[in-house]
Amino acid sequence: MATKNKGKLREIQSILKGLPVRLYGLTHFEHMPDVEEDGKSFFENSLKKARFYSKLFGKIAIADDSGLEVDALGGGPGIYSARYAGERATDQENRKKLLKALEGIPVSKRGARFKCVIAMVTPEGREILVEGTCKGRIGFKEVGRNGFGYDSLFILPRLGKTMAQLNLEEKNRISHRGKALRKLRKMLKDYIS
Ligand code: IMP
Repeated sequence: MATKNKGKLREIQSILKGLPVRLYGLTHFEHMPDVEEDGKSFFENSLKKARFYSKLFGKIAIADDSGLEVDALGGGPGIYSARYAGERATDQENRKKLLKALEGIPVSKRGARFKCVIAMVTPEGREILVEGTCKGRIGFKEVGRNGFGYDSLFILPRLGKTMAQLNLEEKNRISHRGKALRKLRKMLKDYIS
């Protein structure tokens, strides 16, 4: 799994559980080189990462690229979600910047979606891409303590809760990453058998 993000890894492990594979994140290995995410889309970035680590290890590599698209910001921060408040920004700094950017924007115009694209690349060069989306809106303050990133600002109107008020299982059931991963699970299962 081409990620150093422990929150993501937990979600991914939980959905791929039961498959006859051993999953390792990048933090499992020392001195892992980073891949520059300089693509123009979630597709380009995830594929670039999966290609790189599959080649490096000679194994199946799975990479996700995800982010938040906010209507009032013309789809931003999008692929820049992780570094919205700066190159080394923390989740907290990113959330603060988002709230500031949306100051004065009414509920009706705070629509947003989480997007996740997952790329799987096999040692013989097979490439598979899947996508998942989760619609919601941005709240006026942080609510909830679970999850990571923008979860505490992301309201799911149908549940009347933020993503950060859901436990892992509940989040996986409806999240962008959960949806993409369930598609990937099928593909991976077919590939293994
Ligand atoms: P990536 O690591 O380049 O895919 O960056 C994704 C960034 O988008 C994260 O750092 C978060 O800020 C945000 N993001 C992606 N998925 C989620 C999620 O499930 N919850 C909250 N924030 C997310």
